[in-house]
Amino acid sequence: LWLKCLEIIREDVSSQSFSTWFAPIVPLKFQNNTLTIQVPSQFFYEWLEENYVAVLRKAIDHTIGKRGMLEYSIVVDKGDRKNPPITFNLPTLPSSNSNHMQQQTVQQAPARNPFQFKDLDSLELDSYLIPKYTFDKFIEGDCNRLGRAAGMAVANKPGLTSFNPLMIYGGVGLGKTHLIQAIGNQIKEEFPEKFVLYVSTEKFTNQFVNAIRNNSIETFTNFYLQVDVLIIDDVQFLSGKEKTQETFFNIFNHLHQSGKQIILSSDRAPRDLAGMEDRLLSRFKWGLTADLQQPDFETRIAIIQKKLQDDGIQINFDVLEYLAHSIQTNVRELEGVIISLMAQASLTRKEIDLELAKSTLKSIVNDQEKELSVDNILEAVTTHFDVDMLTLKGKCRKKENVFPRQVAMYMLKELTNLPLKSIGYHFGGRDHSTVIHAVQSISEAIESDKSVEKTVKKLFNRFNLALN
Ligand code: ADP
Ligand code: MG
Repeated sequence: LWLKCLEIIREDVSSQSFSTWFAPIVPLKFQNNTLTIQVPSQFFYEWLEENYVAVLRKAIDHTIGKRGMLEYSIVVDKGDRKNPPITFNLPTLPSSNSNHMQQQTVQQAPARNPFQFKDLDSLELDSYLIPKYTFDKFIEGDCNRLGRAAGMAVANKPGLTSFNPLMIYGGVGLGKTHLIQAIGNQIKEEFPEKFVLYVSTEKFTNQFVNAIRNNSIETFTNFYLQVDVLIIDDVQFLSGKEKTQETFFNIFNHLHQSGKQIILSSDRAPRDLAGMEDRLLSRFKWGLTADLQQPDFETRIAIIQKKLQDDGIQINFDVLEYLAHSIQTNVRELEGVIISLMAQASLTRKEIDLELAKSTLKSIVNDQEKELSVDNILEAVTTHFDVDMLTLKGKCRKKENVFPRQVAMYMLKELTNLPLKSIGYHFGGRDHSTVIHAVQSISEAIESDKSVEKTVKKLFNRFNLALN
């Protein structure tokens, strides 16, 4: 029965989601129209319920029927320090009172020997965690939701979730290092006795090469085997380094087997990692792989706000929007601009206003200011409102078309030197009184209606211009 469900589910979700969220589920029993499935953790259950209820419902409908019910059994580990209440829930389905619970003991890691490691200078007992990289400072958005949530889950129960290893991948400057460091910092805070180690792949490789040179490979390996939480950044740099990979593979296996948490980052998905041993790649995919994507507009705004707020600086929203519109791909770049903006402001003792933002940005990124042509303006309006050009210029008097049309006229009036008559011309030869009326009603709406003001601001921003 569960296999049938899986077949249906497989069609509805990506293969990545499928292997992450559905493959680990164990069917337990089927009784009274109720299918009981076992999930590895509370987090897992919550994630399923939040994101896949409809998918599950459909699968149940198709296999058991409309009256079918689904019941979760959450694996409870006794090694859990916080002992959360064991909950038992049914998603979206008519409730049932049955209480079936699975207890499972998770093997406790043996106490670690007091750390002794004197003979290799380059290896010290330091976590290499940077305190400023915290979850609190890592702004959540659609771009990073899975990675962030999984990171939190791992931080709360290192080694005890099914996310082992946790593999975070994504392009340059999208927050990989920040996120994996945040996990480390959080673990250090909650479990001070755990030995958390952050190491870049480059450093790991150098240490290994030195160990070969000094005949101290055993010391090197032993050092890593004492780690409770191993965080390795930028594993793509292992590519082509066979010996290092081999040693890393052994360390990985050993740690994984003893229930230690492993966290990895990479600039690309495991399947795109070339020059990597297959067995190592397959290990990378054992746990959870989550990608970080480019932040959307709102997330960029939140990131900038957070950075400024941390430095006690306030700027107007138009500057904020301008920045968020201008730098889209890379959070690091965004930060760079903010930093030089703050430097500029303190040097020149000027306020951070739109003018300063523009001149600073011009000197940093090549400005792709859009030309203020009639076509570009009309196109911006059609894109924003999702209407087509013919409708925008046409005669249809439906409210949802009239408003964009009036906004377009207003923009042309404000942003170009076109006479009213010419503006009318672009809208099927309407006369100038129509244009005046449009301009007036939009001006008034901007004053009286915040959402109209916001809309027009956004449109102006597309041309790196502020309203007023
Ligand atoms: P990567 O390792 O992926 O190249 P980093 O982790 O070094 O990227 O991130 C680059 C900069 O952007 C860092 O200063 C980091 O704090 C910041 N950053 C990235 N993502 C976020 C986010 N979601 N919220 C806040 N800051 C972020
Ligand atoms: Mg990095």
